[in-house]
This record gives sequence, C-alpha cells and structure tokens, in this order.
Amino acid sequence: MKKKWFHNKTRMIIQLLVLALVVGTLIVGAVKANYTPDMEKYCPFGGLMSFGSKLNIGTMSCAISETQVFIGLGIALMIVFVGKLFCGWLCPVGTVSEWLNKLGVRLGVSFTIKGVLDRILRLGKYVLLFFAAYITMNSSELWCKKFCPYFGAVSGFNVDTVLLFSLLAIGAVVIGSIFIKKFWCKYFCFFGALSNVFANILITGPIILIYVILLLLGVKIPLFWFLLVVIASSALTEVFRFKFFSISPFKIRRNETSCTSCSVCDINCPEGIDVSKEDSVTHPDCTLCLDCVKSCPVNETLKVKGGRWMPPVVLAIVIALALILAKQFPMTTLSERWGTYETADSLKHVDKVVFEDLMSVKCYGSANSMKNKVSRIPGIIGMDAWASKHKVTLYYDNTLLSKTDVKRAVFTPSRYNIRKSITLEDAPETLVGYRVGVWELWDGTDNAHIYRMLMANKGIYGFSTEFGEPVYVIFYFDPGNVQPEDIKKLIEVDKYEYEQKGEKIVQEVNFELEGEGEYVDTLSYLDYRKLFFSAYDRAFNNYRKQDPEKMNVFEVAFPNAENSTVVRKMSYLTSHVSFEPGAVRLRTEFTDHPVLQVYFMSDSTNGENIMLHLKKDMLTCMLRDGSTKEYENIFKFKEPFTVKPLK
Ligand code: SF4
Ligand code: SF4
Ligand code: SF4
Repeated sequence: MKKKWFHNKTRMIIQLLVLALVVGTLIVGAVKANYTPDMEKYCPFGGLMSFGSKLNIGTMSCAISETQVFIGLGIALMIVFVGKLFCGWLCPVGTVSEWLNKLGVRLGVSFTIKGVLDRILRLGKYVLLFFAAYITMNSSELWCKKFCPYFGAVSGFNVDTVLLFSLLAIGAVVIGSIFIKKFWCKYFCFFGALSNVFANILITGPIILIYVILLLLGVKIPLFWFLLVVIASSALTEVFRFKFFSISPFKIRRNETSCTSCSVCDINCPEGIDVSKEDSVTHPDCTLCLDCVKSCPVNETLKVKGGRWMPPVVLAIVIALALILAKQFPMTTLSERWGTYETADSLKHVDKVVFEDLMSVKCYGSANSMKNKVSRIPGIIGMDAWASKHKVTLYYDNTLLSKTDVKRAVFTPSRYNIRKSITLEDAPETLVGYRVGVWELWDGTDNAHIYRMLMANKGIYGFSTEFGEPVYVIFYFDPGNVQPEDIKKLIEVDKYEYEQKGEKIVQEVNFELEGEGEYVDTLSYLDYRKLFFSAYDRAFNNYRKQDPEKMNVFEVAFPNAENSTVVRKMSYLTSHVSFEPGAVRLRTEFTDHPVLQVYFMSDSTNGENIMLHLKKDMLTCMLRDGSTKEYENIFKFKEPFTVKPLK
C-alpha cells in the first residue's frame, strides 16, 4: 500500500510553522546586528526546571523568565488532563525526528526496537531527567543545556553546551531517527521522561502530595530521594506496565465492529504503535497526534473525545493562558533577604528602592553578581530582581541608610577614553573637564550610548561618571574645538545611529542635561591619559616575602594594553608569567605610553628570559583545580625592553 507523507495536514502545518519560527528567528539573529535571538524563550522544560529551582533554593535559572515557567506549568497540566500534545504537535525536535523517520521508511531502513532491549533503553531518558532535575534544582544551572540537541543546534554550541554531548544528542536525533522511530524521544529525551511523570499522575501525584504535606509538617525529605522515587515510579511503570496510570479521558478509541484490520493506522503512527490491536490506545508513547484517526479509511472507526480539532484548540488555549498569566504574574529571577531583614523591628524600618531599566541585570548570573555586591553594603538587607524586565528592588534598613545612600552604594563610577589611539604628538596641549548632571544615565549600557554618541565629535576625548541624582558626567574635550553646547547637541537627541557588524542601527535615547554645568579641570593630554589608564597590578610567588634589594623591574612597551580583550585576559598573562622562576609581580602603567612591568628576582632569572617567556606562541595558565591549560598568546609587546633595580 502506498504510504502518504502526511495524513494530518493541520498538524503538519503547525509543526512547519514552529520550525519556520525557529529557523526564521535564527536567520534574523544572524543578519540583524542589534538583535540577539532568545531561542529558549518558550522552552517548557527550562521553565519547569527553573520553577523547581525557585521552589527549592529561591532562585531562577539564567535566561528563564515567567514566560517559560507558565508555559511549562500549562503543558504539565495539559499532559495530566489531556495528553502529550506538546510532543505530537509543537516540539521542533520531535518534528525533525518524525520527518527524518518518514525518509528512513521511504528508504526502507527504518525499524522499531521491540521487546526487552526497547524496555531497557527507555530507562536512559529517566536517568538524564533525574540528573537534570537534581542539579538544576540545587544550583539554578540548567544542566540540560550541556547535551540538549535543540539548545546545542540553535545556540551554535555556546559556552553552556558540552560540544561532544551536544553532537551525540544531535546525532541521536538526526541519524538515529532515520533508522529508529523517535530514537531520541523514546530513549533519551528528558522532557519526554518528565512528560511521562505527569502522564502517570495517579502514581506520581500521591508521591508529590505526600512530599508536600511532609514539608508543611516540617519533615524535610532530601530532594535526592524525592526525585528518585517520583522519576523511578514513572520509569518502572513505563518499563513493566507499558501504560501509564493516567486520568486523561482523551484516548484514541477504536470501534472493533467497523474496523477492517487493514493496519493503515499502524503504518501511519509516527510512534510505531499497533493501533489496530488496541480498543483504546494507552501506549506510553501516544501523543494524540491523530495521524491514525486521519489515515483510517473507515469513517468513525478511530475517534478521540473532543474530535479532530481538540488538540490544536487545547494547545492554543494553554499557550494563550500561559502567556497572559506570565504577563500578570512576573516572577523574580532572584529574591533574597539577609542580615537584619527579619529583625529590623518587625520590618517597620525596611524601605525599598526600585531600579527600572537596569540593563546590566539581564540574567540570573548578573542579578546574582549584583546581589553579591550589595549584600556587602551594611544596611542593604534584601534584593528582588526581574532579569527579563531589567528591574531590581533593593530593601534597606532606613535607620542605617537613606534612599540616596543606597543609590550611591550601588552606583559604579566609570571612565571612558574614547580616543585611545591619539598619540601625545597629535593631541592638543590641554584638555578641559566639564561637569554636568545627566538624567536617564545609570549603568554601563547607558555609558555605551554616551560613548558612541560622543565619537561623532573628534574634539571630545572621553568622559567619567560619578554618583549624583542625576548622575554627574565629566566630559573631557579640546576647548579650542568644542564647547559645552556641542555636547548638549550631541546628547539631547531622541535617537542616534551607529554601526554594528556592518549594519546601521538606530537607537532611541532620552538623556537630558541638568542645568548649565561647570568647568572642573584643566589638564595636559599626558595627565589625561594617565588619569584614564586603568592600571593592572598582581603580585604572586610570595612577592611580599622577597628581598627588595634583589628585585629588578623589567619594562617593555605594551601598545595594546587598553584593548578590551587584552584587558579581560590579563589574568591569563599573569598566570603565564608566574611560571617563570623568579617572576613575582606584573603590572601595567602609562608613562608616556602604556608599558608592562614584570618584577623579578635577579638571582633567579633575567630580562632575556622574561622577554622570551612573554613572546611564546601559547600561554600556559593554571586553572582553579590546579591543572594547566594552553591559550593562544594575544599579547604583543614592542621591544627593546629595559631592566632596572627596584631600589
Ligand atoms: S520526547 Fe522530547 S524531543 Fe521528543 S517530541 Fe517530546 S519533548 Fe520533543
Ligand atoms: S496512536 Fe494515533 S494519536 Fe497516538 S501517536 Fe499513534 S498515530 Fe498518534
Ligand atoms: S486504519 Fe482503521 S480500519 Fe484500518 S486497522 Fe486501523 S482502525 Fe481499523
């Protein structure tokens, strides 16, 4: 019998739309310079894992917002009361796997693993689910990213992935699925395993309920055992019973009287289920895709409660409700209290400051690093962060701090030299510093806008920021060519243009200068360079215990010392230099140009050895666990070098 590629056009169109959305988003991300696609934005598994982490340790995973959480919860409820519609209708990995298997069937290479081997292999996905859930709920780190085929493919194997695991997973989806129906889904998909936990609700539900009741009664059962029991109960049900203890009334039902046993439904089931042998399909792999119903040649023989439109209608309702609820109930990425929060006189001395548009808080990691910073400030006693909205609320004891104190404490003063390549010869003799308050400027993202806007006037050399309400900015410029009005004209605009990856970007801004401002500094260009040079200084190899009389200072020109990549990787160079016997300190300085200095013991090494060490093609760096790793040497120095005694 000739087998059609697709029997269920509605489902095929929905699957195609999801795939098109994924691919389209990736293409837009690749060609549009100021757009970074959020490919995890709707991932239900990430949402559920992150929700578990929030319940267990109070923090959400990086890049996960209430959208994923509500979609995850909605899909979980849908699996309990209806079925695994996400797998059958939406999942892009499932779609790729299913369509590749259609190819395998056409090529005559597809087969189904049956019997004991099939049952044993099915345990694999539960093992992965257990580790993913346990690690994420204890750390907020989405461990699944290391080997998720979807995330690996759409992120271009970013730093969160483990390349080998991701490639194996993609191989399982792409190559495995050609030969074996739903190879990844049946045997390795951790979300498939989690779906089965919800589908088996008559067993897992009571376990979850008992765990919650015990928790409320103060009996804390370790998470490890709870997860093990819940996940193992589903795994064992699937392996030994081969159908779940489900409460869903939505099952494929076969009318035995009208059925001709033609097996068309069996051939067309993407999961390889023998529908023609069941009165009611209770197989653990059934996703209510309805391909069997639509392919059956005898009218009204295969049916599902709610009819053929039930799955897409249920999915549309669940997704729409999840998106609406996500808008209504924003969830904190991080919510922590510490110190005297609880004891601050029954909270009557607790006040809060809300920071909106804090663009530097964009994920759990950045929120957590802000929390680490503010928790060291006496008087600040709590923080809530909504990373997806770039919003932070800080709680403070108002007997110790005022609102302004809190703002001052979290503000990071910065300096930006926007003309690093100008030499002393080409620079004007003097620069002036003009200080003025700038509204709507707070963090590094705002500074980056100011930086790019000032680039348009070659007479402006840099700026620094200091706390104030509004934040004070000191603009440094050549007084012969620039006047304060020029700065006002550059900054007080609705939008400005800049180029990124060769593309022109129009950026909206709303900075406003406060009043007239004042001149606060006049300095030579050399002093300006020294002021704006961010010097680096690290001591190692027992520097403080060494005899300064025997210490020499090696110095060499370091032209790219202010390059941002070089600045970020200075710790690599430090680690590499620390392997040179006798080297004890490494620092940078602006004399009349940037220089690198290495302090070393004259009885252990000399300038030639240090220069040779600095010029190696690969840097040897020590990692935290004590092992070493080689990195390409990106540091360039301009010889000759000098060596002088320290004293
Ligand atoms: S089992 Fe996993 S990969 Fe397969 S369709 Fe379901 S969620 Fe997608
Ligand atoms: S039994 Fe029918 S509804 Fe279930 S997966 Fe197979 S074809 Fe789809
Ligand atoms: S396709 Fe319809 S008639 Fe044929 S075996 Fe399946 S249920 Fe029976």
